[in-house]
Amino acid sequence: MAKSLIPILPGAYLGMLGGGQLGRMFTQAAQAMGYKVCILDPDPLSPAGAIAEKHLLANFSDAAALQEMATLCQAVSTEFENVPAQTLDQLEALGVYVAPRSNGVTIAQNRITEKAFLTAWRHELNLGPVPYCIIENPAIIDGLDDTLLPGILKIARLGYDGKGQATVHSLVELKQAWDDFGRVPCVLEKLMDLAFEVSALVARGHDDAVVVYPIAQNIHRNGILHTSTVPAPSLNSDQEKRVLQAAKILIRRLDYVGILCIEFFVLKSGEIFANEIAPRPHNSGHYTMDASVTSQFQQQVRAMARLPLGDTRLLTPVSMLNLLGDLWFTGNNPEEAPQEPAWAKALSHDSAKLHLYGKSVPLAGRKMGHINCLGTSLAEARQTAASVANDLGIEP
Ligand code: ADP
Ligand code: MG
Repeated sequence: MAKSLIPILPGAYLGMLGGGQLGRMFTQAAQAMGYKVCILDPDPLSPAGAIAEKHLLANFSDAAALQEMATLCQAVSTEFENVPAQTLDQLEALGVYVAPRSNGVTIAQNRITEKAFLTAWRHELNLGPVPYCIIENPAIIDGLDDTLLPGILKIARLGYDGKGQATVHSLVELKQAWDDFGRVPCVLEKLMDLAFEVSALVARGHDDAVVVYPIAQNIHRNGILHTSTVPAPSLNSDQEKRVLQAAKILIRRLDYVGILCIEFFVLKSGEIFANEIAPRPHNSGHYTMDASVTSQFQQQVRAMARLPLGDTRLLTPVSMLNLLGDLWFTGNNPEEAPQEPAWAKALSHDSAKLHLYGKSVPLAGRKMGHINCLGTSLAEARQTAASVANDLGIEP
């Protein structure tokens, strides 16, 4: 076996670019498997930095920090969608095994390249992106016909959790929204009448092995994920096959080693569209931590350590409930001090599994944790999630 294909064994340092909750759960999985972890994140309060063996407090472009990471770590991965491509390239040039590499990450980071990629492979994928156009100069808006309206204007880079998006009903509103975004490159998508949303979590090893997880059905609120339920209650088996197949093809066409997630829209007509690709573990994959043979974070460890990929089988139906910072506040008083939510009440459900990310400051809309509600049936898992939400004062 070529040296570069030898597995990286426990005891070694694995590096992670980004120290948010995804990095923290990665760290926990890596440490459980006997690895040490080095986090690069400029935030001294980084949730992952707090528990990793090493926290490099620096920016992603800090040459000295990258050198230190490269010296310490055998492999590096990313949890932060917008990690600069240059950072990944520099680490690779310094001799570290980088998974995923910058090529695939770069495509997924920018909605314009992401949509071009999805369009280019739409025949093989047997589905494509929603109707869209690129908005990068005023002439495009003037010449636009109104078939894309009403639509959603999305900034091409750095948007997340519904941020950097505006719904527009007319060309006047579109112009205004683009001005408000500072005229940065954007895509305008047709606003689709969604029946429901699903996501596919897929992993690829250095040896081109590909595994895909059961599809999650996702409900968003205010642009932020609210619940993920598996098996997806509304997806029929034909649709499921199409989504699973598209995910497998897509990760290969991206030439991507590691774990990624693809979000899909399903229309009332049954038509399926690919929404976006997240080049990292994903919130809608948190259910795997308690309900799957291999969690998405263990899978990330396996992929970057060039180990064989783990079984993606679902052990039990599950509904994941996201916990946002809003839960720490009961009223509308902005001066109100945060209070711990009613955990004991929520955990009176004995199959509710609480995960908190160690963030000291709860803020409205901030992801603080999640609860995986397991059930002997899908109905039971959903019922438990509804009861837990009710106990915590989350609106039904
Ligand atoms: P983010 O990066 O914030 O997750 P998304 O593009 O996934 O951005 O949009 C967030 C949510 O907004 C989606 O999950 C979906 O509920 C809704 N949405 C986005 N684009 C459309 C669209 N073209 N038509 C209908 N709903 C959409
Ligand atoms: Mg999304």
